[in-house]
Amino acid sequence: MRIAIPKEILPEEKRVAATPETIKKYIALGFTVEVEEGAGEGVLISDNDYRNAGATIATDVEKMFAAADIVLKVKQPVHNQQKNKHEVEMLRENSVLITFLHPAAPGNHAMIRNLQKKNITALTMDGIPRISRAQRMDALSSMSAVTGYKSVIMAADRLPKFIPMIGTAIGTIKPAHFLVIGIGVVGLQAIATAKRLGGVVKSLDIRKNAAIEADSLGAKPIEFDIPQELAVGNGGYAKSLDSDWLVKERRLIAGHLGDADVVILSALVPGEIAPILITREMIQAMKPGSVVIDVSVDQGGNCDATEPGIFVEKHGVHICGIQNIPGRMAVHASWLYANNLYYYVENLFKKGPGMLDFDDEIVKCSLVTHNSRIVHEGALKAMQ
Ligand code: NAD
Repeated sequence: MRIAIPKEILPEEKRVAATPETIKKYIALGFTVEVEEGAGEGVLISDNDYRNAGATIATDVEKMFAAADIVLKVKQPVHNQQKNKHEVEMLRENSVLITFLHPAAPGNHAMIRNLQKKNITALTMDGIPRISRAQRMDALSSMSAVTGYKSVIMAADRLPKFIPMIGTAIGTIKPAHFLVIGIGVVGLQAIATAKRLGGVVKSLDIRKNAAIEADSLGAKPIEFDIPQELAVGNGGYAKSLDSDWLVKERRLIAGHLGDADVVILSALVPGEIAPILITREMIQAMKPGSVVIDVSVDQGGNCDATEPGIFVEKHGVHICGIQNIPGRMAVHASWLYANNLYYYVENLFKKGPGMLDFDDEIVKCSLVTHNSRIVHEGALKAMQ
């Protein structure tokens, strides 16, 4: 079977779906691999590096798609301006596509329907269940770890202050104060990074377990006395709070904003729009020059003053709505993603080349379209 690795064409996307290391492993499994010319440019991998790993280099992306049994990508298919064709149009009928599809997002519904019409077997990397067997394939966690780290670095870059405590001949410079709200994978990595830089870190989550994890990394959890049956649902994930509890939570947060130099916002409820935890009015309580990084922007954001894709300044506070943060740290994001994808493909074809294992739980959870049907529950619910 032939695997194709196209160059990502979303603006600012530098990641790539395979590295020379994973290409060697695909070839060892019996696949042939073709990589589009320049696909690794953004992560400093040359065409020759791919050739040396055993791949062929394609100069015409349309022909590459047409000849591929499996296309591996990072982001969802989009319109290719050079070819004036959508990537879905270029896929061969009955072929396999594996990438991040975010099939429930309304902006992707038309594309998902087109995959269905073309009888593509489409599998989404954001559908992988968090079971221990799938840990090596968990691309969402990998990208969240990159995001947590980079969000703190982006904040540090904006902040006109030192992060650590610094002793000088003039006197001692106090360390910067961080408030990290939402302690999933992003929040935990943000805490670890802020601590490594020497920041003083407070954290807040509605799950009591998250407070324990934050504490173990050296953050001081803010106590929020919410009954756990209201805050935690299936699989230990957060539930969305009713408006009374959200008001209580905002009041609690407001009391801590005046101390914070940096706020990292990464509070999410699976499958739902992000809760608004900081309002425009609350921003006024913050010190001028402080920074808010709203990592939840793709799900609507945790701050209602965030604008997608840009930094805005409100009352002297810098609020960041930059999207696709992993794409800004493309080398390690690609290394992690390419390996997650390899383990996913290895599991998918564990019955042998050409034999997709549709009985496997990981495959079932990530399957979006197959046999000209949309089978992804989240997508079907969102499309109704
Ligand atoms: P997520 O991205 O769904 O949510 C981020 C965080 O936001 C969560 O901690 C959630 O509790 C929090 N949140 C939601 N509403 C909030 C509110 N109103 N106020 C404050 N915080 C709020 O989370 P995630 O990164 O997917 O991680 C969720 C859990 O899953 C964590 O316990 C994590 O350790 C666990 N996890 C397990 C595995 C694994 O077993 N392989 C992999 C990844 C994550």
